[in-house]
Amino acid sequence: MTTDLTTRVPGVPVEPVTLCEHAATLVRDRGTGFAVARFAVYDFPEIRSSLGAEAATDLLDHISERIQSRLGPRDLLSVQPDGDMLVLLDSAAGLEDRLHDLVREGSGWTAAAYGQLSVGASVAVAHDDADALVSRAGLALEEAGRRAPGAVTICTAPMLASARQRVTLDVDLRRAVEGDRLTVHYQPVVALPGARIVGYEALARWPDQQRGWVSPDAFIPAAERSGLIADIGLRVLRRALRDKRRYGACRNSWMSVNVSAVQLDDVHFTHEVLRALDQEGVPADELRIEVTESALLASARSRAQLIELRKAGIRVLVDDFGTGFSSLASVRRLPIDGIKISRELLHDEEPGMPDPTVVRAVRLLAAGAGVTDIIAEGVESALEVRALSALGMPFAQGFHLGRPAPASRALRWPGAGGLAVPSVN
Ligand code: C2E
Ligand code: CA
Ligand code: CA
Repeated sequence: MTTDLTTRVPGVPVEPVTLCEHAATLVRDRGTGFAVARFAVYDFPEIRSSLGAEAATDLLDHISERIQSRLGPRDLLSVQPDGDMLVLLDSAAGLEDRLHDLVREGSGWTAAAYGQLSVGASVAVAHDDADALVSRAGLALEEAGRRAPGAVTICTAPMLASARQRVTLDVDLRRAVEGDRLTVHYQPVVALPGARIVGYEALARWPDQQRGWVSPDAFIPAAERSGLIADIGLRVLRRALRDKRRYGACRNSWMSVNVSAVQLDDVHFTHEVLRALDQEGVPADELRIEVTESALLASARSRAQLIELRKAGIRVLVDDFGTGFSSLASVRRLPIDGIKISRELLHDEEPGMPDPTVVRAVRLLAAGAGVTDIIAEGVESALEVRALSALGMPFAQGFHLGRPAPASRALRWPGAGGLAVPSVN
């Protein structure tokens, strides 16, 4: 079906279906040289739910009028049911400048609200498909949304490739979780001086046939996005508790498990942790959970769950202290028992050696707040171990003290249960 542009009323948005049909016509007749842009009002759902449908519609009307006033006679605008605005630009020449201009001119006030636009766009390529063109604009808009309000993003080949990779990673990860193919490695935590093993950190591992060992830094964020993290987190916890019990050598040592903000925010989390402890026969005081500071601060519900977990005897450690938004005040205010000082914070100035000022400051602060477990992370040399011991650091963890390894190796080390880590001395 061909779309006849002469029948539309000038200056009035067209139906989304009309815009898509016209894009299909251009793809067929011209192939390239035109573009689709998708505009979104920053926080539009929030505006709609707080100010009501009428004020939201009013805002969209004003914005679409302003955009429309900057469009050429052969460009088309349509307002989507979700409030996004699609624009078919007849020419892709000077696209980025035009998009900046449309964002600037289109954003603005009504009597009730301010609408800040962001935009994502895609340029038609040879042998394109109208649906794909529109979807790519949506993808670019998502990328713009991750940047900042007001961002302008044009879909590029690497952006598309990484989106495809993300999608296949999500699918493959789901299959791996369902097939119970994720595994757990353990890294020792030692007491200083002497390097006696006092605990282990459980670290998720994904061995994939094509990708090899996929780092948790790559798949944990994917799992958080897709909601798989609850399942993964629980499996890691159960596996860690089971391995801890199975390798009896590590009695009297704690097992530390990483917990994401998404998990903490789930109302069933505390109950599930307590049930896992019960079923695996591990006392609560042998479990630590590691949470980043931002997760600790995420919501009132997360806080309430941490308080419950601590009441049950589980200790809470702030992970990666010193990265991101660490604030010394939070050590005093948050319901925590320990701090893991990140390698970045410890090695701010001289990469080889821990910074004594940092160690002293954190120890002082922790003592004042009644926080007892202070663990230096990422310790990579004997020199660092000695320096940390001299500074009175009570615990440490790092490649020099033991790399993460499968349970059969890590939890059977001669060190488990009290002796020194073999690699130290
Ligand atoms: P993290 O909690 O900070 O874990 C420590 C990471 O530092 C681990 O990387 C470990 O292999 C690495 N590491 C240990 N010693 C050293 C050292 O001496 N030098 C250096 N440069 N690195 C060292 P990994 O295993 O790749 O884990 C990365 C992150 O993934 C973890 O960081 C944690 O935030 C997350 N993660 C891992 N397992 C889980 C899990 O089961 N659940 C959740 N939510 N997150 C997990
Ligand atoms: Ca950790
Ligand atoms: Ca850490």
